[in-house]
Order: sequence, then structure tokens, then C-alpha cells
Amino acid sequence: MYTSKEIIEKTNRYGAHNYAPKPVVIAKAEGAVVTDPEGKQYYDMLSAYSAHNFGHRHPEILAAAKEQLDKCTLTSRAFHCENLGEFYESLSRLTGKDMILPMNTGAEAVETALKTARLWGNRIKGVENGRQQIITCAGNFHGRTIAIISFSTDPLARDGYGPYCPGFVTIPYGDAKALRDAITPDTVAFLAEPIQGEAGIIVPPDGWLKEVREICTENNILFLADEVQTGFARTGDMFACWHEDVIPDIYIMGKALGGGVMPLSAIAANEDILGLYTPGSHGSTFGGNPLACACGIKAIEIVQRDDYPKIAREKGKHFMDGLKKINNPEIKEIRGRGMMVGVEFYSDAFDYVKACIHEGVLCKETHDHTIRFAPPIPISYEQLDDALERITRALSK
Ligand SMILES: *Cc1c(COP(=O)(O)O)cnc(C)c1O
Repeated sequence: MYTSKEIIEKTNRYGAHNYAPKPVVIAKAEGAVVTDPEGKQYYDMLSAYSAHNFGHRHPEILAAAKEQLDKCTLTSRAFHCENLGEFYESLSRLTGKDMILPMNTGAEAVETALKTARLWGNRIKGVENGRQQIITCAGNFHGRTIAIISFSTDPLARDGYGPYCPGFVTIPYGDAKALRDAITPDTVAFLAEPIQGEAGIIVPPDGWLKEVREICTENNILFLADEVQTGFARTGDMFACWHEDVIPDIYIMGKALGGGVMPLSAIAANEDILGLYTPGSHGSTFGGNPLACACGIKAIEIVQRDDYPKIAREKGKHFMDGLKKINNPEIKEIRGRGMMVGVEFYSDAFDYVKACIHEGVLCKETHDHTIRFAPPIPISYEQLDDALERITRALSK
């Protein structure tokens, strides 16, 4: 058994420093509580950036994974596996879309949506290949690939990685007029997060998503909704677009889709779009592997059966009401939807995060001034109130 200090030293010694983790080692985890090697317990209020909507090691998801482990873990897509079709069917019913294309990570699902939009633009809309344009938003976060960081507006994510991928246009987030103005005959899609997560829990103006939907339909361009972080009940609806009854052309999903056990991502769209793929035109060796599918099928079952959207709505309100009672003039705004909450400070949030962790609550700042709280959805009210007390102590200083 190594101590936290030894583990952190080894990690820093041999690993690239592309992250700056908080000095906490999570050795064991169960539901909303994690434990370090020394036995200190914390509430996990980050939930692996919403990949843990179901809490750590949800017993039913673990059971499904274990059962699959004993049967077959990976076939590649050269052959069929037992449960890929069942996974497709579950996700198709959940999203209301005809077809699914599975990948592993969120970034791969975003890439898949971008490729799909370009393909659709060329084959259906008739834009000359090489001229397809996709409109994106300032402050976006969609992953770390070369194509995706090419339209990032965060210098840290972008600098030094050129040459950048052409074909992207950036407009301000939440600005319907800017979208209208940016559209040209070569525009094939608009890509956006329904709530910007990494940017600091930025909730767009009411009605914006509805307007986006109308503008995209009017101009024959696809609306690609990146629900990687907001999907699967996090914001108090199954998908954040549903708060405004908006149906995107393509849902982009990841994170919680794998139940916090396996990387599993996917896009969902109708046949007029996803039907364009032919054998060999796109793929992934691990995409839709049976172990990930077993986790995904169970996760999709639980999120609906246990009405996670309602739980997230109610617990999220309780949590946000509690946070709003904190008395600290340094707090500028508390915002969010469901159980996706940001606390923005006038000053740096770094020391407040440190104080939360000291009090036994794991959370992280995003972009210096904002703390993101995203508790596992099954956290009990008792645990949530205990966490709130600790957060109140930490943020009152
Ligand atoms: C996390 C995230 C991604 C990228 O997912 P990875 O699995 O880290 O590649 C994409 N979009 C959004 C909105 C995210 O929050």
C-alpha cells in the first residue's frame, strides 16, 4: 500500500503534466463518497465531470459489467456482438432518433458529429466537398482533438498546436442574431452545448435554443447538440435541449452514457442523416464493444426507470437553495440547472476549492472564478445536506 504522497510523487515523476489534479488520491468509491488511501472520506461533488451521474460503482451497472466480463469483452466491429443492437434500440428509444453510431470518448463523438454534418452537407445539401462550414460558439468545450481545438477560443487548449483545421466559424454563445448572420450557402451545421460546462456553467438566455432550432430549420443546416456533459438527467431533464422542447438533428452523448464504468459515447440522428454511412466510411475498434454496451444498456434503463430527471430537478433546487443562503460578498452569482451548478466569485476560486476539499467536499474551479458542483444524482438528501454544511463553512470565509 502506498501513501497519497508517494502516489502523487510517482504520478508527477512519470506522467506528462497536462493536468494539475487536486492533491487527493481516490482509492475507493461508493455512490457519492470516495476514500483516500489513508481512509479520509470525501463527497464527490464533481462526479468526473458528470460521467458519474449514477454515482460511483452503481450496483446494477457493476453487475451488468461483471456478467458481461464473464462472457465476452471485445469483438471489434469485424463481427457482431450480442448486445450492440440492444444498446442501439435503447438509445434510439431514449432519444427518439432512428439510428445510433457508437464511439468511446466524448471528443470522438463530437468528431463523428462533425464528419456526419460535413457528409450530409456534401451529399444531401449539395455543398461542394471541401467547402462545408460549421458554426461554433465562443467559450465552447468539445474535446481535445486537432479538429476540435481548431475552433476552441481558449488559448491554453489551442496554442502551439497549429496548423488548425479549416471550415469553422465562431460566434458569441447565446446570440441568435449572430447565428443568423454567420450562415452562408456553405454552412452545413451549428454545433453548441445547451449549457456551457467548462466555460463555467454558462446558461444561455431563455428561448435561445428554440430560436437556434428555428434558424437551423429555416436555413437547412443541422443543429448538433453536444450533450456529453448535460445529457442523461444532469440538468433536470433527460437532455438539456428538452427544457425548451428542442430536438437537435444530432445528439452527441458521452460521459454518463457508460455508467461511470466504461468509456462509451455515441451520436443519435435520423436515417436521412446517419443512413449516409457506408461500410468503411467511419469507425472505431472499441466503439460499441460488448462490455461498454452492457454498461450503457443498464445506465439507460436506470436513468428512465428511476426518473433521474425528476430527482435531479428536485435535488438540484434543494442544493441551489442551500448554496444561495451562503453569506459571502465575494460570491457574484450562483447559477445552473438541475444538478449542474456554478458558483462564481469576484475573486479567484482556487482557495475556496481548497477549503471545500479540506472540509471533505471534492470540487474543482473552472476558469479561475467559478466552482462547478455536479453531485452524483443518487446522492441522498442527508448526504447533500451534510455536504452543504461543509461547503457553507468553506465558502463563508
Ligand atoms: C467532456 C466533454 C467533451 C469531451 O469528452 P471526452 O470524453 O473528454 O473526450 C465534449 N463535450 C463536452 C460538452 C464535454 O463536457
